[in-house]
Amino acid sequence: MASIKQPQPPDSIFADAIKRLDNAAKHVDLDHEVVERLKHPKAVIQVSIPVRMDDGSLKVFSGYRVRHDNSRGPTKGGIRYHPDVSLDEVKALALWMTCKCAVVGVPFGGAKGGIVVNPKELSPMELERLSRGFIGLIADFIGPDKDIPAPDVYTNAMIMGWMMNEYSKIRREHCPAVITGKPLSLGGSLGREGATGRGAYYCIKELEKRRDWKPEQVRVAVQGFGNAGQSIAALLHRDGYRIVAISDSRGGVYRSDGFDVPSLIKIKNETRYLKAVYCECSVCEAVKAEIITNEQLLELDVDLLIPAALENQITAQNVSQIKARVIVEVANGPVTSEADAILSQQETLVVPDILANAGGVTVSYFEWVQNRQGYYWSVEKVHERLHKIMSREFNTIFKIMQQKQIDMRTAAYAHAMTRLGSAVAAHGTQSFFSNHNR
Ligand code: GLU
Repeated sequence: MASIKQPQPPDSIFADAIKRLDNAAKHVDLDHEVVERLKHPKAVIQVSIPVRMDDGSLKVFSGYRVRHDNSRGPTKGGIRYHPDVSLDEVKALALWMTCKCAVVGVPFGGAKGGIVVNPKELSPMELERLSRGFIGLIADFIGPDKDIPAPDVYTNAMIMGWMMNEYSKIRREHCPAVITGKPLSLGGSLGREGATGRGAYYCIKELEKRRDWKPEQVRVAVQGFGNAGQSIAALLHRDGYRIVAISDSRGGVYRSDGFDVPSLIKIKNETRYLKAVYCECSVCEAVKAEIITNEQLLELDVDLLIPAALENQITAQNVSQIKARVIVEVANGPVTSEADAILSQQETLVVPDILANAGGVTVSYFEWVQNRQGYYWSVEKVHERLHKIMSREFNTIFKIMQQKQIDMRTAAYAHAMTRLGSAVAAHGTQSFFSNHNR
């Protein structure tokens, strides 16, 4: 294959995220105060978490929690563990959560948290101490009616369980609704684990109808084989789609006739190296296929490209090499705003992250409701309610895109900002106060 240019991230992801707000604001009748408010996170906390390591030494980790906007309800969003976490990134992720919750109409604002750590280097006990230590430091900043964390990159149900337990100890009462994505036995919801992938799958099913797709003719590449990547690949494979490429953080595999996804998932999970609570096996070692890099995967000649890993994968540097006609963003922020404009000129349809991956937070909302009711739903109920919300919002945004002749991301932001705008305006804006002061 030709040499690949490494995608370059923008200087500030948060500034890049704001560009999307400004761009969408041109297409909605909004008070300028709404956009102004959304440009500033409501509250930011930075903490230093001292952790006693197994060898007796002390290590101090940096962590952040950002509450971006709470005009529509308590703030909501995951906590990520990654060596590249920065305040700028967490602010952008929190802003996207605000828009995502508005897109699907769940009664939350947006937040995000992160710890600068490579969790694969920690033992399970070090990981538990780190997770509990973080909650100890942010306990006054979160709460079931204030800010509700959840899993994100490299955090999982077990970590959410530790965090809920730590928060409950601090409050001296059982508080399951403070965090979502918990293990089922600790008040988690059926269907939460695969919800992000499933939400994106429901979007693809709507597209299938609109574009009259025959699944066996649709070649799909999935970047990222974590929770979301595995579940979307499995659901599409079940329906007959040809999953021709898959990658994880160590690289990818390609096979033109498609992979048997369930056995790939089985191999990856069975051969995992049980260090901490992470799967460590790479798909590269699991199957016989052409080995490709993550960058090459993005540039494959496929019909449907699903970035399901990290942000800034498709940038001004590699966008002209993207051949897929449709991109469904299961990761948060995989396409930069510069690349957006070029994709739109190339007539590539991008189903944006704030819609495509909103299944996770939607089922998190269901989990929060179930925790507060103390009454738990069947998995069929969860799937049915998720399906209804995802197809409703997909079709609403698709219509806005067609009516206003804008790309789907701008339409999704316009839709979110209309909902956010009515919540902000209900508290009064300048036009209201100026008229009443005369
Ligand atoms: N971390 C997920 C996201 O980015 C889920 C958030 C949640 O469930 O609150 O959407």
